[in-house]
Amino acid sequence: MSDLSVPRPEVTRLSVPPRLLLGPGPSLADPRILQAMSTPLLGHLDPQFLEIMDRTQSMLRYAFQTRNQITIPVSGTGTAAMETAVANMVEPGDTVLVCVSGYFGLRIVDMARRYGGQVEVISRPWGQVFSPEEVKTALERRPAKVVAIVHAETSTGACQPVDEIARIVHDQGGLLIVDAVTSLAGVPLFVDAWELDVCYSGAQKCLSCPPGISPITLNGRALAKLEGRQTQVTNWYLDLSSVSKYWGKERTYHHTAPISMVYAIYEALQIVLEEGLEARWRRHRTNAELLWAGLQEMGWELHVPLEYRLPSLTTVRVPPGVDEAVLRQRLLREYNIEISGGLGELKGKVLRIGLMGFSSRPENVLLLLSALKKICG
Ligand SMILES: *Cc1c(COP(=O)(O)O)cnc(C)c1O
Repeated sequence: MSDLSVPRPEVTRLSVPPRLLLGPGPSLADPRILQAMSTPLLGHLDPQFLEIMDRTQSMLRYAFQTRNQITIPVSGTGTAAMETAVANMVEPGDTVLVCVSGYFGLRIVDMARRYGGQVEVISRPWGQVFSPEEVKTALERRPAKVVAIVHAETSTGACQPVDEIARIVHDQGGLLIVDAVTSLAGVPLFVDAWELDVCYSGAQKCLSCPPGISPITLNGRALAKLEGRQTQVTNWYLDLSSVSKYWGKERTYHHTAPISMVYAIYEALQIVLEEGLEARWRRHRTNAELLWAGLQEMGWELHVPLEYRLPSLTTVRVPPGVDEAVLRQRLLREYNIEISGGLGELKGKVLRIGLMGFSSRPENVLLLLSALKKICG
């Protein structure tokens, strides 16, 4: 045996400060969920685990407000669910229209191109929303098989009117993919009533679960597109035609389910059921209104107009004379509070404050407001 050539690093016990997470995600995990994650493992084909999977699916249908058969959690973070949507729906050569008004819209564009889509983009300044007419005009100019839009843009704090846009996309014979990563279980979302063909989310935003598992749902129209493909889905891991056989009746092994993450989302969804979706939406709204009022009282300007402002994520303009990076550093160092800065077009211009899931509480809002006042004088 040869000597170890890589020296052993110092042993350092895992230790983290008690942060208050009020950024764009992850939100604070509900302690009940962290506890559920320490439940002993079951085999991924154990009948007891299969039951947990079935109940997880029916709770996800409630959260999405859908009866879609294919409603499952994808193994991976929100981006894996986004990639699942794009990889399964976009075939090489397909015309794709992406409505971009923020960072995550751009990520969909990049993915759709990599999967061979002929991608067209329409844009709005970050923080604004599309009018259904704009989407209609774009589709009349160049029809698209697949249209994608972000419901709740975490980079801007704006909420897009996806229900009206779905109608237009269907009138033109297309199929709509909706990113609901920052809206599921925090902002009204009705997958069936709004006829959203593919809708995906994440765990660490309004569900308050640690990152690593991400719900997706597909309706009959989307399923027909998947079944009618001329080519195989080029991403093996995220191919829904096989993943759904593990979550469906066949129970065919595809990859080992991340058991503890399934426990986590199971518990997160139990909490949603107990609270009730409507009460949960109301709570997110009420606490956001408390934050908005407090910021406005300080003379700070909110970036997104009230009519399409998102309750789960607030963008507030950096006041003149304030160095936003220093402000965020002091919030973290002196008060253990995490908020975030702007991305892309909004870099240096806004602060992003998330009130999602377990983090959405009045005491957190009041603490943040008083810390901001202390620091900014
Ligand atoms: C957070 C987020 C994602 C990506 O999720 P990850 O968990 O970071 O992979 C995608 N879309 C939106 C709107 C998001 O807020």
